[in-house]
Amino acid sequence: MVQFKNTRAFAREMDREDPLKGLRERFNYPRVNDREVIYFTGNSLGLQPKIARDYVDEIMKDWANLAVEGHFYAEKPWWDYHERLADPLSRVVGAAPEEITVMNTLTVNLHLLMVSFYRPTQKRFKILCEEKAFPSDQYMLQSQVRYHGLDPKEAIIELKKREGEHFWRTADVISKIEEIGEELALVMMGGVNYYNGQVLNMAAITQKAKSVGAFVGWDLAHAVGNVILKLSDWEVDFAAWCSYKYMNSGPGSASGVFINKKYHGLKDIPRFEGWWGTKKETRFLMQPDFDPIPTADAWQLSNPPVLAVAPYLAALQLFEEAGMPALVSKQKLLTGYLEFVLQEIDKEVESTFEIITPEDRGCQLSVFLHGEGRELFEYLMKEGVIVDWREPNVIRLAPVPFYCSFEDMYHFGQILKAGIRSK
Ligand SMILES: *Cc1c(COP(=O)(O)O)cnc(C)c1O
Repeated sequence: MVQFKNTRAFAREMDREDPLKGLRERFNYPRVNDREVIYFTGNSLGLQPKIARDYVDEIMKDWANLAVEGHFYAEKPWWDYHERLADPLSRVVGAAPEEITVMNTLTVNLHLLMVSFYRPTQKRFKILCEEKAFPSDQYMLQSQVRYHGLDPKEAIIELKKREGEHFWRTADVISKIEEIGEELALVMMGGVNYYNGQVLNMAAITQKAKSVGAFVGWDLAHAVGNVILKLSDWEVDFAAWCSYKYMNSGPGSASGVFINKKYHGLKDIPRFEGWWGTKKETRFLMQPDFDPIPTADAWQLSNPPVLAVAPYLAALQLFEEAGMPALVSKQKLLTGYLEFVLQEIDKEVESTFEIITPEDRGCQLSVFLHGEGRELFEYLMKEGVIVDWREPNVIRLAPVPFYCSFEDMYHFGQILKAGIRSK
């Protein structure tokens, strides 16, 4: 265990010893007061990798010079551009490359996956999700349930936290699954909760849900690129994630999908289909029969939005260089240091900080700043600390190991203290 100290010298020493320190300069930073910002919102939109521009420029050039010929003769041909992402992504999410495809955006993909994995019957029609799930996920689930002619109030079971607690207990999830038992059609939850930063026990929950005969899908928006995932080993049925948060792929960039290999190559699985899911060898014969690619690519509908996928491929190059194990090691130290700095500053000011993120966490700390309000948020932003603020006084801080430093954490503590004292 490192003995943390709330000093600039200590933070600088940690940065010097950081094996990933070289990655910091591979990103572009917004500037405030002529200084690079301290960026805590990589859980919302990751910073831009400098190489992203080259990847996009390449496509713009190929489009200008080759036009339609770019589909097959571009430097990275467009028609199978998305396939390049499966291999590096498989290492980020712990899956086989065939189990991954990149397409559309997250909510769209969740809807498409529900077609295959939510097949309610008279007896088995319930969905278990966490209470106060991300709104888009709630709307998605409710509209799917209504689409099947069911009542969301009966079909959707929201998992509550215990009175006075800010996190879900695995034991409570497990007993809820047992209780719903044969009526449970699907467990569909966020692997890492967007609000409190909790990492759910995806292995145990998946196993339990399967033991009662339910399908299991995970929304990994806040998990991918943040925590170690083992989707194949856990025998997850499906998962999807967006790529603009911890994956640093740019606003609205394409979403990733995992589909367990046991569903590959089936012709009778319910699925909405399009020409990019049919076998490449025969696709351009324009035949009427759909012949699914025997991988997750069977779920592809359209030719890939290459301009949205290009920055994703660029970002994955950085994941390949760093590797998830090294990123997660740094993340634990960095988030631990941020927690320590908050505790130290808490002793020096009158307000009280309450970290609601439980031990099972990734990057993010969600903190109640009791006694503070919106002015503090405005102060932080003015001083170049980019944070997410939720009324009345919760800040969510995500020190992303790719581009945040230990000195950033120390510096943030000093700015926070000055902000509270300046009232
Ligand atoms: C960020 C996020 C989304 C966003 O969905 P889009 O379809 O990409 O706009 C959805 N669900 C969760 C849990 C998220 O964190």
